[in-house]
Amino acid sequence: MAKGFVVIDVDRCKGCGLCTNVCPVNILALSRDTFNAKGYHPVVVTDVEKCIGCASCARICPDIVFTVYRQKRQTQRAKIGASAVAAAPAV
Ligand code: SF4
Ligand code: SF4
Repeated sequence: MAKGFVVIDVDRCKGCGLCTNVCPVNILALSRDTFNAKGYHPVVVTDVEKCIGCASCARICPDIVFTVYRQKRQTQRAKIGASAVAAAPAV
């Protein structure tokens, strides 16, 4: 499964909660303890390790709060290839 992470522009959030309903791994929630500059409880990521970079949050957010980054699969293959070469017997 792909890995990703999101950067949240906290002060743009209006606490509508739309994003918390679409995240497939349930890692978005509205903060109960903090307020942003607009006076709303902003969205927070509860477990950054679980983000799959699907960008559902960014698509549904009406206020362009999220920037989503996704780890490239090519990078993972390159690492696997590098390991295999290192494990091959010397001729
Ligand atoms: S990119 Fe996907 S998995 Fe990550 S926080 Fe947004 S909706 Fe959740
Ligand atoms: S959808 Fe956007 S504005 Fe609404 S809670 Fe999520 S980040 Fe905040």
